[in-house]
Amino acid sequence: MSVLVIAEHNQQLLTDSTLRTITAAKQLGEVTVLVVGFQCQTVVAQAAKVDGIQQVIHVEDQAYEHFLAENISVLIADLATPFQHILAPASTFGKDLMPRVAALLDVAQISDIIAIESNDTFKRPVYAGNAIATVRALDQKKVITVRTAAFSAAKFVERTVAMNTESKSIFAEKTAFIKRELTKSARPELGSAKIIISGGRGLQNGENFKLLEALADKLNAAIGASRAAVDAGFVPNDYQVGQTGKIVAPELYIAIGISGAIQHLAGMKESKYIVAINKDEEAPIFKVADYGLVGDLFEIVPQLTAELP
Ligand code: FAD
Repeated sequence: MSVLVIAEHNQQLLTDSTLRTITAAKQLGEVTVLVVGFQCQTVVAQAAKVDGIQQVIHVEDQAYEHFLAENISVLIADLATPFQHILAPASTFGKDLMPRVAALLDVAQISDIIAIESNDTFKRPVYAGNAIATVRALDQKKVITVRTAAFSAAKFVERTVAMNTESKSIFAEKTAFIKRELTKSARPELGSAKIIISGGRGLQNGENFKLLEALADKLNAAIGASRAAVDAGFVPNDYQVGQTGKIVAPELYIAIGISGAIQHLAGMKESKYIVAINKDEEAPIFKVADYGLVGDLFEIVPQLTAELP
């Protein structure tokens, strides 16, 4: 079986989610990685060193500089002929792109898989992660997004694989790139951080997130948030963890002033260790926590930060 993985990158580096998607893809057959972008040669060189892949296809054009799904989806549909499976991370990038690819190929999309049973059968969470559905897809081609927290990252090795450079330029007529607004942060990216410290409504305001930042600085952690904290404007919405935010599975997740609603748990309960700090001992977050601290976060968090080297 031939599998095509669509690489997510920032024109300089492959994302960790791409490396995890490649691990999933390797269970299905021989993997080709497609790097689409503009002036992204370093990404191509990186992709060629990923362990276990057979080939890299490189398509370079200004049309792909801003990763407009309207352009890239048409390109992928054009390149799809030799591949039985087409995979991308279930990130914002993949969720924007892959439904368009599936529509162009006239197949059903299989979303957010967490396990591969066979070439046509996959497991995926439903009902905010409270049940796991096993789905079988009968389409000839399978367009799949991968819940990357469920797979480990493929490693790099010292060799390079076959390179195939295509030149195709596809500009969608009805869509134009206007601007991109990115939250700049020196912290690790939420999706790939080993430690995440998340704050909820219990923080009371955005200013109080500084308490979490001081702790995060000591632990080299990313900062996340509940939807209540995001909706209240304490932090930007790309901090949101949960069913309608980011799905994360770090080594350590510290939930501070977060009650543990199922929609929040859906985004973090696969974390290896969960620590909860909450003044309400009945808060549902304690049901999934490995370590729980019942008390006032405004006392506990500064103490914890001061104790750390
Ligand atoms: P609350 O539930 O209000 O909890 C605040 C907690 O802080 C309480 O447990 C309280 O005891 C504690 N606290 C208060 N003061 C202190 C203090 N001084 N010290 C210690 N503890 C304190 N939510 C998400 O997070 N992510 C999602 O992706 C998401 N998607 C959703 C999708 C849908 C369709 C719906 C309907 C809801 C979704 N939600 C999501 C919202 C979710 O249901 C909850 O409303 C939200 O998670 C609650 O956020 P919270 O825990 O910060 O706030």
